[in-house]
Amino acid sequence: MYKMNSSNVPNYLQSLLPATVGSFSNYSLRNSSHLQTIQARTSLYSNSFLPSTVCEWNNLPDEIKNAESINSFKSQINIDRQTPNPLFTYGERRFQMLHTRLRTKCSALNEHLFRRNIVASPLCLCGLHETTSHYFLECTRYVHIRGEFLNSISAYSVPCIETILYGDNTCDYLTNTKIADAVHTFIIKSKRFDS
Ligand SMILES: [Zn+2]
Repeated sequence: MYKMNSSNVPNYLQSLLPATVGSFSNYSLRNSSHLQTIQARTSLYSNSFLPSTVCEWNNLPDEIKNAESINSFKSQINIDRQTPNPLFTYGERRFQMLHTRLRTKCSALNEHLFRRNIVASPLCLCGLHETTSHYFLECTRYVHIRGEFLNSISAYSVPCIETILYGDNTCDYLTNTKIADAVHTFIIKSKRFDS
């Protein structure tokens, strides 16, 4: 994405990128360096590379987006993330990606799609805001799988949203992979991101 935005790629690739918000406005907007959110008609498309990457790109600070070179960009990304959490690459690729999108608020939950102007309402089918906490901890649509989910996590840690998304930094890696397994099992059984 950095390479695409800094003209380091052939025209055909660069032309795939949406224009910045600022290029359509004479006013100095807070988000003028943001790329326009790609309108995705289905959550399947919104999960594909370009729309979800534009979402993650827009969440980066301007200093990082405007880095002078690809090496400086990469090192700033790494500084920003401190040491990369090995948990983020644990498990099957599909569940790693879904887990990451929930962390970065770029998932197909209605609250996340609404923030990106993809759906008209942030509400869940149950009528409440479909946030990440709502999905994992509150929604009555998943009450049949939640007991087992919370029990699995409680065996190792407090089952709060921080632990569900990032693991528990007071636990060792092996324990955290058990927590991640429980989260991935909940995601599978909920069928919420099946297309
Ligand atoms: Zn709900």
